[in-house]
Amino acid sequence: MANMIGLTGGIGSGKSTVAKVFSTLGIPVFNADACAKDLMQNDPVLKQALMSAFGDAVFSNGILDRAYLGQLVFTDPSKLAILNALVHPVTIQAAKNWAAIQTSPYVIKEAALIFESAASVGLTGVVGVFAPLSLRIHRVMKRDNCTKQEVESRMQNQISDSIKMKLCDWVITNDDQLLVVPQVVAIHEKLLKQFS
Ligand code: ATP
Repeated sequence: MANMIGLTGGIGSGKSTVAKVFSTLGIPVFNADACAKDLMQNDPVLKQALMSAFGDAVFSNGILDRAYLGQLVFTDPSKLAILNALVHPVTIQAAKNWAAIQTSPYVIKEAALIFESAASVGLTGVVGVFAPLSLRIHRVMKRDNCTKQEVESRMQNQISDSIKMKLCDWVITNDDQLLVVPQVVAIHEKLLKQFS
Protein backbone atom coordinates (compact mmCIF):
# COMPACT_ATOMS: atom_id res chain seq x y z
CA MET A 1 0.00 0.00 0.00
CA ALA A 2 1.36 3.42 -0.99
CA ASN A 3 1.97 5.98 1.76
CA MET A 4 -1.02 8.29 1.76
CA ILE A 5 -0.41 12.02 2.29
CA GLY A 6 -3.39 14.25 3.04
CA LEU A 7 -3.86 17.55 1.22
CA THR A 8 -6.18 19.96 2.93
CA GLY A 9 -7.02 23.62 3.40
CA GLY A 10 -10.00 25.89 3.72
CA ILE A 11 -12.58 26.42 0.97
CA GLY A 12 -10.91 28.24 -1.91
CA SER A 13 -7.40 27.90 -0.48
CA GLY A 14 -6.22 26.15 -3.65
CA LYS A 15 -6.26 22.42 -2.77
CA SER A 16 -7.33 21.36 -6.27
CA THR A 17 -4.77 23.70 -7.82
CA VAL A 18 -1.98 22.18 -5.68
CA ALA A 19 -3.33 18.65 -6.34
CA LYS A 20 -2.92 19.27 -10.08
CA VAL A 21 0.76 20.07 -9.53
CA PHE A 22 1.30 16.80 -7.61
CA SER A 23 -0.53 14.99 -10.40
CA THR A 24 1.70 16.62 -13.01
CA LEU A 25 4.69 15.33 -11.03
CA GLY A 26 3.29 11.81 -11.54
CA ILE A 27 1.72 11.37 -8.11
CA PRO A 28 -1.75 9.76 -8.07
CA VAL A 29 -4.39 11.96 -6.41
CA PHE A 30 -7.57 10.76 -4.70
CA ASN A 31 -10.24 13.45 -4.46
CA ALA A 32 -12.23 12.62 -1.32
CA ASP A 33 -14.95 15.20 -1.97
CA ALA A 34 -15.58 13.89 -5.50
CA CYS A 35 -15.55 10.32 -4.18
CA ALA A 36 -18.10 11.22 -1.47
CA LYS A 37 -20.38 12.78 -4.10
CA ASP A 38 -20.05 9.68 -6.27
CA LEU A 39 -20.82 7.30 -3.39
CA MET A 40 -23.87 9.34 -2.34
CA GLN A 41 -25.20 9.00 -5.86
CA ASN A 42 -24.18 5.42 -6.62
CA ASP A 43 -23.67 3.33 -3.46
CA PRO A 44 -27.04 1.60 -2.84
CA VAL A 45 -26.45 1.09 0.92
CA LEU A 46 -25.46 4.72 1.43
CA LYS A 47 -28.39 5.94 -0.70
CA GLN A 48 -30.81 3.98 1.46
CA ALA A 49 -29.20 5.33 4.64
CA LEU A 50 -29.51 8.91 3.33
CA MET A 51 -33.20 8.41 2.57
CA SER A 52 -33.81 6.90 6.01
CA ALA A 53 -32.04 9.82 7.70
CA PHE A 54 -33.31 12.74 5.61
CA GLY A 55 -36.41 11.46 3.79
CA ASP A 56 -37.02 10.15 0.28
CA ALA A 57 -37.03 13.73 -1.08
CA VAL A 58 -33.21 13.86 -0.99
CA PHE A 59 -33.40 11.89 -4.25
CA SER A 60 -35.46 13.25 -7.09
CA ASN A 61 -35.95 10.68 -9.89
CA GLY A 62 -32.97 8.78 -8.49
CA ILE A 63 -30.70 11.85 -8.59
CA LEU A 64 -29.37 13.29 -5.34
CA ASP A 65 -30.87 16.73 -4.77
CA ARG A 66 -27.72 18.36 -3.45
CA ALA A 67 -29.31 21.78 -3.02
CA TYR A 68 -32.12 20.33 -0.89
CA LEU A 69 -29.70 18.22 1.21
CA GLY A 70 -27.42 21.26 1.59
CA GLN A 71 -30.33 23.36 2.86
CA LEU A 72 -31.18 20.67 5.43
CA VAL A 73 -27.69 20.17 6.80
CA PHE A 74 -26.20 23.65 6.61
CA THR A 75 -28.99 25.07 8.77
CA ASP A 76 -28.85 22.28 11.36
CA PRO A 77 -25.49 21.15 12.82
CA SER A 78 -27.01 17.90 14.16
CA LYS A 79 -28.15 16.95 10.64
CA LEU A 80 -24.71 17.81 9.26
CA ALA A 81 -23.17 15.53 11.89
CA ILE A 82 -25.50 12.70 10.78
CA LEU A 83 -24.58 13.25 7.11
CA ASN A 84 -20.86 13.23 7.94
CA ALA A 85 -21.25 10.09 10.07
CA LEU A 86 -22.84 8.33 7.08
CA VAL A 87 -20.55 9.59 4.32
CA HIS A 88 -17.10 9.89 5.92
CA PRO A 89 -16.50 6.22 6.90
CA VAL A 90 -17.31 4.89 3.41
CA THR A 91 -15.20 7.59 1.77
CA ILE A 92 -12.25 6.88 4.11
CA GLN A 93 -12.56 3.18 3.26
CA ALA A 94 -12.71 3.93 -0.48
CA ALA A 95 -9.48 5.97 -0.17
CA LYS A 96 -7.76 3.09 1.64
CA ASN A 97 -8.90 0.60 -1.02
CA TRP A 98 -7.62 2.92 -3.75
CA ALA A 99 -4.24 3.49 -2.01
CA ALA A 100 -3.83 -0.27 -1.58
CA ILE A 101 -3.51 -0.75 -5.33
CA GLN A 102 -1.24 2.23 -6.11
CA THR A 103 2.42 1.57 -6.78
CA SER A 104 4.01 5.04 -6.56
CA PRO A 105 6.17 5.85 -3.48
CA TYR A 106 3.35 7.97 -2.08
CA VAL A 107 -0.12 9.18 -3.05
CA ILE A 108 -2.12 12.30 -2.27
CA LYS A 109 -5.58 12.32 -0.70
CA GLU A 110 -7.21 15.71 -1.29
CA ALA A 111 -9.96 16.46 1.24
CA ALA A 112 -11.52 19.65 2.57
CA LEU A 113 -12.14 17.96 5.91
CA ILE A 114 -9.31 15.90 7.33
CA PHE A 115 -8.90 16.98 10.93
CA GLU A 116 -12.66 17.51 11.32
CA SER A 117 -13.30 13.80 10.78
CA ALA A 118 -11.42 10.56 11.30
CA ALA A 119 -9.87 11.04 7.85
CA SER A 120 -6.41 11.80 9.29
CA VAL A 121 -6.15 8.23 10.61
CA GLY A 122 -3.93 6.20 8.32
CA LEU A 123 -2.29 9.22 6.69
CA THR A 124 1.52 9.34 6.80
CA GLY A 125 1.46 13.14 6.82
CA VAL A 126 -0.66 16.12 5.84
CA VAL A 127 0.09 19.03 3.49
CA GLY A 128 -1.90 22.18 4.18
CA VAL A 129 -2.70 24.91 1.67
CA PHE A 130 -2.92 28.36 3.18
CA ALA A 131 -4.40 31.48 1.63
CA PRO A 132 -5.65 34.66 3.31
CA LEU A 133 -9.40 34.61 4.05
CA SER A 134 -10.30 37.59 1.86
CA LEU A 135 -8.51 36.01 -1.12
CA ARG A 136 -10.26 32.66 -0.54
CA ILE A 137 -13.68 34.36 -0.45
CA HIS A 138 -12.88 36.33 -3.59
CA ARG A 139 -11.66 33.21 -5.46
CA VAL A 140 -14.73 31.12 -4.59
CA MET A 141 -17.19 33.95 -5.43
CA LYS A 142 -15.53 34.16 -8.84
CA ARG A 143 -15.26 30.38 -9.39
CA ASP A 144 -18.78 29.46 -8.22
CA ASN A 145 -20.51 32.70 -9.17
CA CYS A 146 -21.96 33.07 -5.66
CA THR A 147 -22.28 35.72 -2.98
CA LYS A 148 -19.90 36.50 -0.12
CA GLN A 149 -22.59 35.37 2.33
CA GLU A 150 -22.91 31.98 0.61
CA VAL A 151 -19.15 31.43 0.80
CA GLU A 152 -19.02 32.50 4.45
CA SER A 153 -21.86 30.16 5.36
CA ARG A 154 -19.99 27.19 3.81
CA MET A 155 -16.85 28.23 5.68
CA GLN A 156 -18.63 28.13 9.04
CA ASN A 157 -18.60 24.33 9.00
CA GLN A 158 -14.83 24.06 8.89
CA ILE A 159 -12.35 24.61 11.68
CA SER A 160 -10.32 27.79 11.35
CA ASP A 161 -7.36 27.78 9.01
CA SER A 162 -4.95 28.87 11.73
CA ILE A 163 -5.75 25.72 13.75
CA LYS A 164 -5.77 23.52 10.64
CA MET A 165 -2.37 24.72 9.43
CA LYS A 166 -0.77 24.06 12.84
CA LEU A 167 -1.84 20.42 12.52
CA CYS A 168 -0.22 20.03 9.09
CA ASP A 169 3.28 18.67 8.54
CA TRP A 170 3.96 21.00 5.59
CA VAL A 171 2.20 24.23 4.58
CA ILE A 172 2.01 25.66 1.06
CA THR A 173 1.28 29.39 0.91
CA ASN A 174 -1.01 30.23 -2.00
CA ASP A 175 -1.40 33.97 -1.52
CA ASP A 176 -0.80 35.32 -5.05
CA GLN A 177 2.69 36.37 -3.88
CA LEU A 178 4.74 33.20 -3.42
CA LEU A 179 5.08 30.80 -6.36
CA VAL A 180 3.18 27.57 -5.71
CA VAL A 181 4.98 25.11 -8.00
CA PRO A 182 8.45 25.37 -6.32
CA GLN A 183 6.81 24.84 -2.91
CA VAL A 184 5.09 21.65 -4.17
CA VAL A 185 8.28 20.40 -5.83
CA ALA A 186 10.25 20.89 -2.57
CA ILE A 187 7.72 18.79 -0.61
CA HIS A 188 7.58 16.19 -3.40
CA GLU A 189 11.37 15.78 -3.31
CA LYS A 190 11.35 15.34 0.47
CA LEU A 191 8.60 12.74 0.23
CA LEU A 192 10.37 10.87 -2.55
CA LYS A 193 13.55 10.71 -0.41
CA GLN A 194 11.52 9.57 2.58
CA PHE A 195 9.62 6.80 0.80
CA SER A 196 11.86 5.57 -2.04
P1 ATP B 1 -12.76 24.06 -2.57
O1 ATP B 1 -12.45 23.75 -1.16
O2 ATP B 1 -13.90 25.04 -2.67
O3 ATP B 1 -12.92 22.87 -3.46
P2 ATP B 1 -9.99 24.49 -3.34
O4 ATP B 1 -9.25 24.67 -2.03
O5 ATP B 1 -9.84 23.18 -4.03
O6 ATP B 1 -11.50 24.90 -3.16
P3 ATP B 1 -9.27 25.69 -5.85
O7 ATP B 1 -10.51 25.25 -6.55
O8 ATP B 1 -7.97 25.03 -6.18
O9 ATP B 1 -9.48 25.67 -4.26
O10 ATP B 1 -9.05 27.26 -6.00
C1 ATP B 1 -10.16 28.17 -5.89
C2 ATP B 1 -10.19 29.09 -7.10
O11 ATP B 1 -9.04 29.93 -7.05
C3 ATP B 1 -10.11 28.33 -8.43
O12 ATP B 1 -10.91 28.99 -9.38
C4 ATP B 1 -8.63 28.41 -8.80
O13 ATP B 1 -8.43 28.37 -10.18
C5 ATP B 1 -8.23 29.76 -8.21
N1 ATP B 1 -6.83 29.74 -7.75
C6 ATP B 1 -6.30 28.98 -6.78
N2 ATP B 1 -5.00 29.22 -6.63
C7 ATP B 1 -4.67 30.17 -7.53
C8 ATP B 1 -3.46 30.85 -7.88
N3 ATP B 1 -2.31 30.61 -7.25
N4 ATP B 1 -3.52 31.74 -8.88
C9 ATP B 1 -4.68 32.01 -9.52
N5 ATP B 1 -5.86 31.41 -9.25
C10 ATP B 1 -5.86 30.51 -8.26
